[in-house]
Amino acid sequence: MKRPSTVGKKTRRENMGLDRFGGNDTTQFSDIDEVTSSSKGVWKRPWWVREVDKPTMDIDWEVTERFDARKIQQMSWRKYVGEDKANELNKRREEKLRQWILEEKPGYTLRDRALDIAGAQAGSVKTSFQGSWYKPEGQNKGDGSAFVSNVSTSKLTDPARPKPLSPEELGVPRWEGSPQENARMIRSALKHFGADQVGYVELTEQHKKLIYEVDSLDGKRIEFENVEKAYETEEKRVIPEKARWVIVFSIQMSEELIKRKSGLMPSALSAAATGAAYGQARNALDQLQCFLHVLGYQGLIGTWYNGLGIAPAFAVLAGLGELGRINRMISPEHGPLQRVFKIVTDLPLEPTKPIDAGIMNFCRTCKVCADECPADCLSKKTDPYWEPVGPWNNPGHKTWYEDSPSCRTWWATSTAGCSTCFAVCAFSKKNISLIHDLVKIAIAKNKIFPDQVNAFFTKMDGIFGYQDQREIEDWWDMELPPRGTNNPKGSQLD
Ligand code: SF4
Ligand code: SF4
Repeated sequence: MKRPSTVGKKTRRENMGLDRFGGNDTTQFSDIDEVTSSSKGVWKRPWWVREVDKPTMDIDWEVTERFDARKIQQMSWRKYVGEDKANELNKRREEKLRQWILEEKPGYTLRDRALDIAGAQAGSVKTSFQGSWYKPEGQNKGDGSAFVSNVSTSKLTDPARPKPLSPEELGVPRWEGSPQENARMIRSALKHFGADQVGYVELTEQHKKLIYEVDSLDGKRIEFENVEKAYETEEKRVIPEKARWVIVFSIQMSEELIKRKSGLMPSALSAAATGAAYGQARNALDQLQCFLHVLGYQGLIGTWYNGLGIAPAFAVLAGLGELGRINRMISPEHGPLQRVFKIVTDLPLEPTKPIDAGIMNFCRTCKVCADECPADCLSKKTDPYWEPVGPWNNPGHKTWYEDSPSCRTWWATSTAGCSTCFAVCAFSKKNISLIHDLVKIAIAKNKIFPDQVNAFFTKMDGIFGYQDQREIEDWWDMELPPRGTNNPKGSQLD
């Protein structure tokens, strides 16, 4: 449902008399009871679904008792079928599992098993260089023994699944595919794990410069060595030279959430767009590491999801998008409304190429993010430049270097981060109308007075209200797709 927005661009807000920390004066409810009793809270179902007073199955509440959960089959299957039969079935399952992997039976290959095992792996709170199950030498006693030593143990009987199988432990050869096949496989797996866009970069000597020298959390050095396996000591983490590929992927953010600000003040709702993407990424990273491990390869990440290397740089090299004035990757499909993550691997992958969709050139004349930045920390210069503005910038590329400390200071003031620049960006809109596609084509291809044409598009973007923020409370009444990010045409529910 489209609702008129009341909060517009900085200038419009000033004209309306809203102050710098302007509150949201559009609240329609005075207390939570009013919200929950509002007709807007009704769950919208298809017209052919009718509500009834009783479920369609009969229930005898006289007979119904509280149930001992230990009786469920996942817990007591062996008791129900008998120990001997259970052991025999498990042995046969183990034999078949191995045999079908070796036979490459469709649907039962090592790749298929890896996807299944990795999908249940999610839930790591911290990220880990070598995998959430990894423990240094000598600390693995009892950890994952059930899953490692008994391949017949199902994920249902061992929900914790502390350590996934490697092909070696399973007694089968590791996965082998061409770089092209592997790239296709990882893209499919990552989409299954919740990623949106996926690309690959080869770690050449030049590209290695984008891997951090020192970890931001514990100060350990990150080094490359000619070793078979990654390892870490008290002083360093070591990436094997053979791990020559970087998988780069994005997790989309909800436009509906990120545009919920109160005047210039970011809200907890707008911050939730970012938080949800990072939460999703933890799962995706954990699952991807597990997937690679089960296939027989290494997947290495930082001590936190933004660690190990410079995410926007890898995203640009992988062709997920172009660098924008906000010094983040902007993709043709989702604009800046995504977070980028990366993982280094020894699985050979065909690199994807950088792209030119006219985005960086568009940023030259647009400047909306810089005009709207509440901390005035984005550059308003037309052309990008080589000179960093402070030690927080990494030199060596031509861009609009930003005043990051002022940005972070504003986050502290706002209590809810910021991301106003993401929210107002001309590329932050749903791909639901043909006109947006036509504008993007013009931005990418037009050679006739491109600066003037791009400036016209920026002006129209503002006039049509695309930079406007939306009513904060309305979000709670919307029927959105999962994660509120489903952008393809025809799938919008609002
Ligand atoms: S996050 Fe906010 S303060 Fe930081 S650059 Fe973007 S608009 Fe400015
Ligand atoms: S708002 Fe405009 S200048 Fe800023 S990043 Fe988006 S397109 Fe570029």
